[in-house]
Amino acid sequence: MLPFIDLAAQRARIQDRLDAAIARVVADGKYIFGPEVTELESQLKAFGQTEHALTCANGTDAIALPLMAWKLRPGDAVFAPSFTFASTAEVVAWLGATVVFVDIDPDTYCMDPASLERAIEWAKTEPGLTPRAVIAVDLFGQPADYPAISAITRAHGLKLIADSAQGFGCTLNGQHPAHWADIATISFYPAKPLGCYGDGGAVVTNDGELAVLFSSLRNHGQGEERYAYDRIGMNSRLDTIQAAILLEKLAIFPDEIKARNTAADAYAAGFGDVVKAPVVIEGGVSTWAQYTIEVDDRDAFRARLAEKGVPTAVYYPVPMHVQEPYKRYPLAPGDLPVTERAMARVVSLPMDAYLAGDRQDQVIAAVRASL
Ligand SMILES: *Cc1c(COP(=O)(O)O)cnc(C)c1O
Repeated sequence: MLPFIDLAAQRARIQDRLDAAIARVVADGKYIFGPEVTELESQLKAFGQTEHALTCANGTDAIALPLMAWKLRPGDAVFAPSFTFASTAEVVAWLGATVVFVDIDPDTYCMDPASLERAIEWAKTEPGLTPRAVIAVDLFGQPADYPAISAITRAHGLKLIADSAQGFGCTLNGQHPAHWADIATISFYPAKPLGCYGDGGAVVTNDGELAVLFSSLRNHGQGEERYAYDRIGMNSRLDTIQAAILLEKLAIFPDEIKARNTAADAYAAGFGDVVKAPVVIEGGVSTWAQYTIEVDDRDAFRARLAEKGVPTAVYYPVPMHVQEPYKRYPLAPGDLPVTERAMARVVSLPMDAYLAGDRQDQVIAAVRASL
């Protein structure tokens, strides 16, 4: 079987630097909030074109912490797509708030601004519900429709989180999601485009007040003095060793984003005539966390590819609003027909920055032969 994500190719490229970086942290002994964490935060803010960048333990906490900073509570409504990874909805439930599921655009799989607008209008008239925030997801690595979504959140006075767990590094008209959102969140889970060797997360934001709150909340609510607490927080820190690994990976990340786009173009050229290639929003650059196509008979297609040694994955077979613990949450008026059509048809193909060449040619040939 070919690899679905070839992490080994990336490791081989920077193995010496990774080994040295890890050894340095182990020898230095500053395992928590060591100098590599500060350096990574400074590089992330330069890369993400924001005034502040803060790391945390994972991409899930990265979404939860701003909601905590804004004091989300029961009765508050947060609007999010259902076609996403669990974290996006889970963190809303942690705070006892209500997630209102919104439909997606059929081409980009990102939040549909029209469905969002309908959901907000509905929630405004619903007794006991107060619209507070929107979480847009940069699904599969591409930027959501931020100009439209941020116009809606501003008009209704709502906060906007860009869940860029899969999409850190994506741009729209040359701007990163944090240009429109109050905060953009990142996951360094190993399989994400910018992954570490364990769990990790971060946020980028231009909101100085929010950055101060985030920094306190991720470290037990600590204030200026050690062991003096201004608020109730949690333990959500990025290990120094992961920061050291990420510094080496961030150095090659711009090059890898280019390589992923080259591979995406090669897929489109290789089978775009027989199956619909993914559509990126006009003016957008994707990080291609996933390369996702749609087929009529997914099980048969996947079985034929597997026979030819090509692995596939399905993101996501069961969207959040269909999951048992989340069934009780409301849907945008008009329901989620696009999400429900996509869940039965989507299939993701191997994608990483080291795909081009023989491996990709094999996938393309297998796709053509399996349709
Ligand atoms: C991976 C992911 C997260 C969560 O990141 P973790 O680091 O695994 O906690 C959140 N949102 C989306 C859309 C993701 O894909």
